[in-house]
Amino acid sequence: MVNARSDRPARQGAGFPPTPEAPPWHAARTDDVLSRLSVSADGLTDGEAENRREIHGYNRLPTATPRSVLVRLLTQFQNLLIYVLLVAAVVTALLGHPIDTAVILLVVLANAAIGFVQEGRAEKALDAIRGMIAPHASVLRDGHRVTLGAEAIVPGDVVLIEAGDRVPADLRLIRARNLKIEEAILTGESVAVEKDVRPVAAEAALGDRASMAFSGTVVAAGQGRGVVVATALDTELGRISALLGTVETLTTPLLRQMNRFARQLTVTILGVSAVVFGFAVLLRGYAWPDAFMAVVGLAVAAIPEGLPAVMTVTLAIGVQRMAARNAIVRRLPAVETLGSVSVICSDKTGTLTRNEMTVQTAVTAAAEIEVTGSGYEPRGAFRHAGRDIAAADLPILDELARAALLCNDATLRPTETGWIVDGDPMEGALVSFAVKAGHDADLLRRQIPRTDEIPFDTRHRFMATLHHSHEETTVAYVKGAPERVIRMCTRQAGPDGPVPIDATRWIETVEALGDEGQRVLALARKAMPHGTVTLDFADVEGDLVLLGLVGLIDPPREEAIVAVGECRDAGVRVKMITGDHAATARAIAARLGLARPDSVITGERLDGLDDDAFATAARDTTVFARTSPEHKLRIVTALQANGEIVAMTGDGVNDAPALKRADVGIAMGRKGTEAAKEAAEMVLADDDFASIVAAVREGRTVYDNITKVIGWTLPTNGGEAMAIVTAILFGLALPITPVQILWINMITAVALGLTLAFEPTEPDAMRRPPRAPDAPILSGLLVWRVVLVSLFFVAGAFGMFFWAESRSIPIEEARTIVVNTVVVMEMVYLFSIRRLHATSLSWTAVAGTPAVLTGVAAIAAAQLLFTYAPFMQVLFATRAISPLDGIAILAVGIALFVALEIEKLVRRRLWP
Ligand code: ATP
Repeated sequence: MVNARSDRPARQGAGFPPTPEAPPWHAARTDDVLSRLSVSADGLTDGEAENRREIHGYNRLPTATPRSVLVRLLTQFQNLLIYVLLVAAVVTALLGHPIDTAVILLVVLANAAIGFVQEGRAEKALDAIRGMIAPHASVLRDGHRVTLGAEAIVPGDVVLIEAGDRVPADLRLIRARNLKIEEAILTGESVAVEKDVRPVAAEAALGDRASMAFSGTVVAAGQGRGVVVATALDTELGRISALLGTVETLTTPLLRQMNRFARQLTVTILGVSAVVFGFAVLLRGYAWPDAFMAVVGLAVAAIPEGLPAVMTVTLAIGVQRMAARNAIVRRLPAVETLGSVSVICSDKTGTLTRNEMTVQTAVTAAAEIEVTGSGYEPRGAFRHAGRDIAAADLPILDELARAALLCNDATLRPTETGWIVDGDPMEGALVSFAVKAGHDADLLRRQIPRTDEIPFDTRHRFMATLHHSHEETTVAYVKGAPERVIRMCTRQAGPDGPVPIDATRWIETVEALGDEGQRVLALARKAMPHGTVTLDFADVEGDLVLLGLVGLIDPPREEAIVAVGECRDAGVRVKMITGDHAATARAIAARLGLARPDSVITGERLDGLDDDAFATAARDTTVFARTSPEHKLRIVTALQANGEIVAMTGDGVNDAPALKRADVGIAMGRKGTEAAKEAAEMVLADDDFASIVAAVREGRTVYDNITKVIGWTLPTNGGEAMAIVTAILFGLALPITPVQILWINMITAVALGLTLAFEPTEPDAMRRPPRAPDAPILSGLLVWRVVLVSLFFVAGAFGMFFWAESRSIPIEEARTIVVNTVVVMEMVYLFSIRRLHATSLSWTAVAGTPAVLTGVAAIAAAQLLFTYAPFMQVLFATRAISPLDGIAILAVGIALFVALEIEKLVRRRLWP
C-alpha cells in the first residue's frame, strides 16, 4: 500500500465540501445532494470520474508504515546468542586474541545480514498477498452497473451496496431497502442501525445520521444506493484514524512453540556450559582462558541459532506458494492448520461448479422449451418438439422472459474475451435468456421501470420487484426457489388466462430438471392495485400467478473433480453444503465424484433433529441441500465435537459466524462479501475448490519442510556439542576450535538449512491421512534421528581427528580435516532428510532442487576458500589438506549416506 498523502494532489476547491450556508450532507435533501455534487441518479461518466480522481486523488487511507530498515537491522541483534557472542568477543579481545575477536564480530555481522535479507523476503511475501485482497465496489457509471476497485471511487459516484459489503466511502443514501448497517468501527455500537434516505437534523450525532452510510462500516442487511460525498482521509473513518491496519508479525503457534523451545534450549545450554567450564578448570586443569574459549565453542555449537529464522522463511515461502495457487492466507496460523484439515465443507455454486450459468430449459403450463446457446452471449434459439419456435408467439413464455429480465439486478456487457456479467451470474443468464426471447434489455427496463423491491435473501429464497408500465398497469414479479414460489401461487398462467395451479405437477417437473443437474427457478407475477408504490412481504406472500420455471446449467469444474479425487487419497472428506435444491445438488455431487453422493439431507430435515441425531447426520451426510447459513455453523460445531479439523467455505454476510468457527474459514474472493472475507482465515482468489485442495497440499508441505529444517538442524548442533563435551571430559585436544564452529553454524549451516525451506511437496504428501493436530513436532522418530545422527557426527569427527593425529599431522591441519568432514556430513544428511518417508536413493532425490544445488555449490566453494585461501587460513587457523584426506572425507560422507539409508530401510520394515 502506498501512503495516500503522497499521491493526493492538492485540493483545487471542487466545491463539494458543504459550504457554510448549505446544510451538512446528512441534513440535505437527496435532490440537493445530487445537484451539489453535479451528478444524476445514473452516476458519473467515466471521463468525469477520471477528472474528479485527478482532483481528489485515490480513495485509500495510508497504512501503518512498515518498520524502517534500521529498526529491522537492529532487531537482528536482539538475540541471546548474539549477546553471548558479543561477550565472547570482548573477553577474547581482553585476552589478547584479536583475530578471534574479529572473526566473532564478522560472523555476528554476517548472521545479522542473512537474517535481515530473509526477513525482508518474508515481509515482502506478506505485503504482496495483502494487496491481492483489495476491496471492490459496485458503482453506477453512465447508468450501468460496474465493479471497480474501491480506491477508484470519487466524490459524486453513485455506489450500490448490499448485505455483506463494506461501505467504500462516505455515502449520502439516495435509496435504501431494509438497509441496516453495522457501524461499530465508528461508533462502537454493535447493533446494526436502520438506514433511510430522509434527511436528519443537521446537529445529529454520527450514530444518528440514518441518511448516511459511512466508509468502513459493514452492511448487515438489505440493499441501498448512495452518492459519494467524501473519500479517503475526508471520510469519518479517515478523520478518526489516519492509520489503518496493523503490521502482522510473521508467526504461528508452531513457530512460537519452536521459538520457545529454542530459547529454553539456549538457557539450558548456557547452564551446561557453566558446569563444563567449572569441570574443565577444576578437574581437568585447563587454563581458564582456554576453558573459556572451549565453552564458548560449546555454546555456539549447541544453540540452534539459525533455526527460528529458517522456519520463518519456510512459512513465508508456504504462504507465497499458496498465493500463487490462488489461496490467499489472511491469518498465518492457517498455514499450519491446513495441513491437518480432515473435512472440507464446500459451497456448490461457483466453488465446485463454474458459476457460469446458462438457461437451458424454460417450462410453462403449455410447453417445455429447450433454449440453445452457450455462455452469456445473448444468441440462441428456442426449440420445442424438435422445431425452432419464436418466443413472441408464446405469450406465457414471452412474459416469463420479461419477468426474468425485470426481476433482476444484473447487466451483460460484451468484452474482447466474451460476454461478462456485472452482478449475479445466475441473473446474468436470465438477461441473456430474455434477450434471446427477443427483448431489448435496456429498453424494457426503461419502459417498465422498477419502483420498489424486496431483495433476495438466502433466508426467504426469493426476490420481488414492483413495476409500472406506460399502460398504467402495476405489477409485481417474483423469482426464487421453486418450492418457495409455488407455495405463494394459487394460479398458473394458461394460454387463456390464469387457471388454478397444479402444484404437484410443477414439483415433479422441478425434481426432473434437478435430477439432470439443472438449477431451477420459478417466476411468478401479481397484478397490484393501481398506484401501489411500495412492496412488502404481505403483498407477495399469496395469490401469485405462476408463469413457469427456468432450468439453468452450471457445470462442475473439471479441476474440482480432480481435486475431489485427491482429497479421497489424502483422507480428507468433502461435504457439499448448498442453498440449492436436493435433486440438483445430488446430481452435481455424483458428477463431481463425491463419496456417497446419494446421502442428501435438507435444511428442513436438519431443523427437526435433536443434537445427537444432528451430530450423526453431520458426520454421515455428504450433501446438505436447501441449507441456510445457520446450518453451516451447527454443522461445523458438530463436526469439531467429533474431533474433525474443519475447513468451511462461505461468501455471504451470514456465513461469517461459521467461517469464524471453522478451523480454516475460507471466503470466496470473487463472489464473497467483504464481511465473509474478514471473518475468514483464507480467501480464494478464483473461488475454486481445487485451490482449497492445493492449499491443503501446501499446508502439508510447509509442515514437512519445517520438520525437515528442525530434523536437520538439531543433530548438526548436537553432534558438534557432543564432540566438544567429549574432548573436555576426556581431556583431549579440541578437534575443532570455537571460531571454526562459528563458521560452520552461522554460515554454512544456515545457508544449507535454508534450502530445505524451498523443498517441493513430497510425492506421498497427499496419499497419507491428515496429521493429528496435537501430534508433537518433535516426534519420537525425530528425537531418535537427532540422537542417532549426532552420534554419527561425533564418530565421523573424532574418527578423522584420531586418524590424522595417528599420522602426526599438525593439529591445525587435523582440525581443518574435521571441519570439512562435518560440513560434508551436513550436506549428505541434507539429501537424506529431503525424503522424510521414502528412500533418498532415487534420481529426483539425489538431483535436488535448484535451491539445494545452489546451496551445496556455494558451500563447497566456501569450504575450498576456508581450506586453501591464505586469509582464511589466518582467520580460522586452517591449513591446506592433502588429496588423500579429501578422498577420505568424501568416503565418510558416503558411509553416512549408506548408514542413514539402512536405518530408513530397517525402520520401514519394522514400522511400515
Ligand atoms: P450455494 O450455497 O452452493 O452457493 P446457492 O447459490 O443455490 O448455492 P443460495 O444463494 O442460498 O445458494 O440460493 C438458494 C436458492 O435461492 C437458489 O437455489 C435459488 O433457487 C434461489 N436464488 C438464488 N439467488 C437468487 C436470486 N438472485 N433471485 C431469486 N432467487 C434466487
